[in-house]
Amino acid sequence: MFQRQDRMIALTFDDGPQPGPTNEILDILSENQARATFFVLGNIAIQHPDLTRRIVQEGHDIGVHSLSHPNFQETEIYEVYRELIDSTLLLEDLLGIPVKYVRPPYGFSTAEAQFLFDRIGLQSILWTYDTLDWEILDADVIAGNMLENIQPREIVLLHDIHPATAQAMRIAIPQLVDQGYELVTISEYLETQENTLS
Ligand SMILES: [Zn+2]
Repeated sequence: MFQRQDRMIALTFDDGPQPGPTNEILDILSENQARATFFVLGNIAIQHPDLTRRIVQEGHDIGVHSLSHPNFQETEIYEVYRELIDSTLLLEDLLGIPVKYVRPPYGFSTAEAQFLFDRIGLQSILWTYDTLDWEILDADVIAGNMLENIQPREIVLLHDIHPATAQAMRIAIPQLVDQGYELVTISEYLETQENTLS
């Protein structure tokens, strides 16, 4: 018999929010009683405050993905600091809750950047399954690959700025739920990981 945590998948959406795709993905998640995590860009979130609030109001997690998407490996450390602190404060101001997670752009970081994550109180979250949705841009292929390859306890990388990604979620999410997967936030995912370890 499966334990609850054995059937968990954490969908994560980077680079948004973008009104079209983000709203559609939120609708699909809500219709399927599914949850996810959104790593937003500060410079974009500030342009869409209501949409950014909608993410947390509907029970999803939000994390920072920097202000403007620089590669932290090619950015002066004081700039990395500004990107992290400004996007975190901006989001906390907008949402009225602490922001706990960071996904560095491209998944790239350095020891110095990791030190800043710790100092600011951000836990870095990467992924275990890359859909390459930004490159494929075809809903059927993105969804088909996911349904064929995804494993329990996968952290899935997606981008809520492409209409094809939203369309792919329209296909994949109901089927994953049908297959008995529970789509959870990063907080829920980490909670059960800790339980598993203890
Ligand atoms: Zn990104």
